[in-house]
Amino acid sequence: MLSENGRIRLSASDLMRFMSCTHASHLDLERLQGRGPEPARDSEDAALLQRYGDAHEAGHLETLRAGGDVVEIEKDQPFSQAVAATVTALRQGPATVFQGALEGGAWGGWSDFLERVDVPSDLGPYSYEVADTKLKRKPSPSHLLQLVLYSDLLTPLQGRSPENAHVLLGDGTRASFRLAEYADYARQARTRLETFVNAPWPTRPVPCATCDLCRWRENCAAVWESEGSLFRVAGISRSQVTKLENAGVMTMTGLAARKENIPRLAAPTFDRLRLQARLQTHRPTKGPHHALRDPAGGKGFDLLPEPAIGDLFYDIEGDPFYAEGGTEGLEYLHGVWDGDDFTALWAHDHTAEKQALITLFQLFDARLSAYPHAHIYHYAASIAPGC
Ligand code: SF4
Repeated sequence: MLSENGRIRLSASDLMRFMSCTHASHLDLERLQGRGPEPARDSEDAALLQRYGDAHEAGHLETLRAGGDVVEIEKDQPFSQAVAATVTALRQGPATVFQGALEGGAWGGWSDFLERVDVPSDLGPYSYEVADTKLKRKPSPSHLLQLVLYSDLLTPLQGRSPENAHVLLGDGTRASFRLAEYADYARQARTRLETFVNAPWPTRPVPCATCDLCRWRENCAAVWESEGSLFRVAGISRSQVTKLENAGVMTMTGLAARKENIPRLAAPTFDRLRLQARLQTHRPTKGPHHALRDPAGGKGFDLLPEPAIGDLFYDIEGDPFYAEGGTEGLEYLHGVWDGDDFTALWAHDHTAEKQALITLFQLFDARLSAYPHAHIYHYAASIAPGC
C-alpha cells in the first residue's frame, strides 16, 4: 500500500496479503495513516526467501539476456515515468519487457516479465502476456490474483486482453493459465479489498499460514498474549475457538476453568483442549509439565511398539530452496539420539549430503545388526494449529 497524492495505490502483494489475513491489511492501512503499531523487521526466513526469489528472477533474466531482445525498465525512477517507459517499450515490440510498470485505477505494480506473443493488438501484429517468477514448485491461487491483476492492467496498453498468463516456478517448470477461467475470482477479490480500504470493517488477529513471515507477527503475538487468547492453546483450530467463544469461553484461563461441555464440540475434543489449556495456564507457576492421557485403543502410545534395547530417535532437517548445479533442495542435517549420545551429520552441499546419507544408513545398519529388535523413531506433530 502506498499513499500518492492523497490516493492509496494497491499492489498485488496487498491483495495476496488481504486474502490471507484481513487484519494484516487493517494494520497496513493504519500504518499508512500514521497510526497503529510498528512493523517487525523481516524474519530471517522472509529475508532468505526474498534472496532466493531475487536470484530465481535474476537467473531467468540472464537466460533471456543471452538471447537478446529484452528491454528492462529502470525501477529507480518515479513510478509514473516507469509506466511511460513501459508503454514505450511495448510499442517497440521486444521479445520481453522486464520489470514493466503497470497501473490503472487504484492498482499498480511491477510485473516480472511481459512476453511477446503472435496475437495482433493495437501495438501491431503482436501483443504481450504476463509471466511471473515464483520460488514455489506448484502454482497457488495467490499467483493467479497477481497474474490477473497485471494482465488487466496490461489490457488497455495493447487494446486487447491477454489470453494466458504464466508462472515460472522454482523447479524450472512453467505453468500457464487461461485467464478467462480465473478473472472473476481475482476481480472480486480486488473489489473486496478496495471496499475494505474505503470503509474498513473490524478485524482481529487470527493465526494463519502466513503469520510466520508477516511483518505484524510480533504485534499479533503480543495481542494474543495480553488477551490470554484461546488461539494460544496448542493444537486448537479456528472453528473450535469459534465454538468456545459462542459458548462464552473467551480466554485460555476461561477454558482451563470450564466445567460444562461446549455445544457442538465433541466431549473428547473439549477434554483435550481443556487439559491443554490447563497445562499452559499452570506453566508460569509449575514450569514445563505434562499430563498423560487415558490409554485409548488404537491411539497414542497404543500405536507404539514396546521399548526395546537399542532404540534410536531420529530427525532430519532440509532446506527446500537450496539450489546447486540445477538440483533443488538440500537435506542438511540428520540427527540421531541413541539414549546416551547425539550424533549430528551435517551437509552443506550435495556431495556432503550424499555422504551424510551413506553414513546414516551405515549407522542404522550397525545398530539394527547389534540390536535386531530395536526401532527407529521419527517424531512429527500430528495436530496443526488452525489456519
Ligand atoms: S501475524 Fe498473522 S494474524 Fe497477525 S496480521 Fe499477520 S497474518 Fe494476520
